[in-house]
Amino acid sequence: MSTERFVIIGNGPAANEAATTLRQRAPQSGITVFGKETTRSYKPHLLPDVVAGRLDAEKIFASPEDYYNERDIQLRLGQKVVQVDFNKYQVILEHREVVSFDGLIIATGGKPRIPEPLEVFEDVMMTLKTTEDARLWIDRLARVDSVLMIGGDLTSLSLTRALINIGKKVFFIIDAESFWPLPFNERLHQEIHARLREKGVDVSSSRKIKRLTQLSDCSIQVETDCADFEVGIVGAFFGLVPDVRFLARSGLDIDRGILVDENLQTRFRNVFAAGDCAQVYNPVIRDYWVSIGYDNARTLGRIAALNMLGGMIAAQASPESIFSLNGVQVNTSWWMEF
Ligand SMILES: Cc1cc2nc3c(=O)[nH]c(=O)nc-3n(C[C@H](O)[C@H](O)[C@H](O)COP(=O)(O)OP(=O)(O)OC[C@H]3O[C@@H](n4cnc5c(N)ncnc54)[C@H](O)[C@@H]3O)c2cc1C
Repeated sequence: MSTERFVIIGNGPAANEAATTLRQRAPQSGITVFGKETTRSYKPHLLPDVVAGRLDAEKIFASPEDYYNERDIQLRLGQKVVQVDFNKYQVILEHREVVSFDGLIIATGGKPRIPEPLEVFEDVMMTLKTTEDARLWIDRLARVDSVLMIGGDLTSLSLTRALINIGKKVFFIIDAESFWPLPFNERLHQEIHARLREKGVDVSSSRKIKRLTQLSDCSIQVETDCADFEVGIVGAFFGLVPDVRFLARSGLDIDRGILVDENLQTRFRNVFAAGDCAQVYNPVIRDYWVSIGYDNARTLGRIAALNMLGGMIAAQASPESIFSLNGVQVNTSWWMEF
């Protein structure tokens, strides 16, 4: 397959590792990476430190500026894939350009989940997934003293720590459903509650958001079932869901993420999925697991590339590190201290 044209959708850690591996193992092949963001590949777990001003935004890139160029990998930033035609083996970009491929790796990762009852307030709430989100946080934080965090996913905890460090008053409404990928139970609840309080966070777990109203650039009115108050920013942190909606009518098998076998292959020949967007079959548990975390993403990106080139490497997840959450099996390489 050495002179074939490979396309990678996504420019996160899974895609980055896949592109590197393809180039190492198939030096003559054509490789094109499409990333919908305009920045080159970065380490998302460092975004809270960027928001807190502890790290320069330039320091979070996964590789030097010339990395792709030097490896003759075509990097097309700011170009979103909106459709894939698996009969013709073509990807279609938002600006209607059509690009043919012989092999495809889908590594589109996840996007912030907003629970349905809160969707109506989506424009008032902030999330943190991209460098553009981080820039908005920095901008808004310069004008406010307080932040309300709703949810409780792993991202929210590291951002809360960062906000405390820069002297912001943090309110937190814990939501039992948002601990993804951690299985929520009373022990975890008590632990996170206690740790947040210890750090000076005003935490509550029983409140339900009734309404959020943007009063001005730096003030949001929060109405809950117990009290009303004003804060500068409301952050929504309910975990990440696979960013695969654009593939819904493509013929791929999709559940939570893209269903792949243990070799990360989809139902189509030479089409693989890797990283947070994949749901990988594990013959031991006879079920699919969802991968979460930076290290997992890189490993899966590498495996997808090797298998594209004829390998038969199975993605490993030990049964002990897989747990079930709302009926979905989750394997995570992501565990952090708060
Ligand atoms: C704030 C934050 C903190 C985190 N902290 C940690 C941590 O401490 N430890 C840890 O292990 N993990 C952490 N994570 C999770 C970790 O970053 C992810 O698991 C990992 O980035 C997944 O990699 P990925 O390549 O699968 O997807 P992503 O990193 O989500 O990358 C997906 C890429 O695909 C692109 N894309 C999506 N759709 C399209 C499309 N249609 N067309 C073109 N491009 C597209 C996106 O722009 C992006 O470049 C954190 C994540 C965040 C956001």
